[in-house]
Amino acid sequence: MYSIIALYFAIYLLPIIIVNVLQIYHIKSYATQEPVILNQHDYSIAATYAIIKCKITIIQHIVNMIFLILWLLFGIESLSHFVVSIGVNGAFQLDWSILMCFMAVNLVLNLPFSFVIMRVDTVFGFNKQSLASFCVDTVKTTIISGIFIGVIFALLLWAMETFALWWVVSFVLVFCFIILIQFIYPTLIAPMFNKFTPLQNETLRERIHNLMLTVGFKSNGIFVMDASKRDGRLNAYFGGLGKSKRVVLFDTLLDKISEDGLIAILGHELGHFKHGDIIRNIILGGCIFFCLFAIMGLFFQDICVYIGLQETHSNILIVAILLLPALTFFITPIQSYFSRKAEYRADLFGASCASKKTLSETLIRLVNENKTFPYSHPAYVFFYLSHPPLIDRLNALKDYERKETQ
Ligand SMILES: [Zn+2]
Repeated sequence: MYSIIALYFAIYLLPIIIVNVLQIYHIKSYATQEPVILNQHDYSIAATYAIIKCKITIIQHIVNMIFLILWLLFGIESLSHFVVSIGVNGAFQLDWSILMCFMAVNLVLNLPFSFVIMRVDTVFGFNKQSLASFCVDTVKTTIISGIFIGVIFALLLWAMETFALWWVVSFVLVFCFIILIQFIYPTLIAPMFNKFTPLQNETLRERIHNLMLTVGFKSNGIFVMDASKRDGRLNAYFGGLGKSKRVVLFDTLLDKISEDGLIAILGHELGHFKHGDIIRNIILGGCIFFCLFAIMGLFFQDICVYIGLQETHSNILIVAILLLPALTFFITPIQSYFSRKAEYRADLFGASCASKKTLSETLIRLVNENKTFPYSHPAYVFFYLSHPPLIDRLNALKDYERKETQ
């Protein structure tokens, strides 16, 4: 068991600490230089905010490692004994209850971090939520994700009981379930947290509509979301899949960005659609997911034996949930790499819908409002960022402009 813990530390926790420390020093070194994009005041605030977030990440992962050790040493066995002691019987019910209790304990253990992040966001003026509303959100999220997780565990346990190649069947079932959630998210889940009202501004609606026509994007409406009640940051997205697709503009965005700017931002989002980035992402995500399931199916029974745990279905899944993040940490950069490339392409398309100048100005405006520090260490970009740093995006737009005028 101790060699697994040592390996987890060496290939997961240590790289995370190193990457975040590199990022902290990188930001510190730029924070003392002449500010770019942001004014002096916002530039220092953005630097402090980014550094605090890195420190929280480091502490959170160290605490998680301590929890991992406790789970492996005695937590998993104690939890199994507890569930048996409350009278749950039948292999399936027992495994399912153990898994749900495990998730519930993890949720409670992670609550302090959610609270700390909420407090930090409040201090920096992003979070507009009261403590009561934060608690209501947490309860709602817990119930909804509890239902989804409960269904996923039931599917996994059924597949494990029924098929020899259970991990292949599990992959198909869980992947289809996640796609189904994408379909129902905009119309069923998102409205539980926010109000969505059709966009009133007729000229803007017309312009967005025409923009969507140019790329053949069919949506079931353009909506404004009351994001400002929770967070002051600006955003817009295209949610859902198939017929449930909808354009969602944060009300914060409408207040602060010009119509041309909005067209540039939405043009960027439509660029993803035009270039097939959404489908590519789903396929790539599916491949990564398949690899994780294969690893879980082929190795985790033996890992349970090695740790000294019984090879029950719930134990195999719990150990996988605890250890797989170490693998995903090295797999997600593949996805992020393609995502960053896609961002440059989408920027070009967004610029073609308005102008390069408008898109650049709007991106700068977004960064100003969201107080994003403009620089990031290359290692941090590689491991964490699905979007290139703003400086690189602005430079790429300038380069294209230069090439066009040559
Ligand atoms: Zn994008």
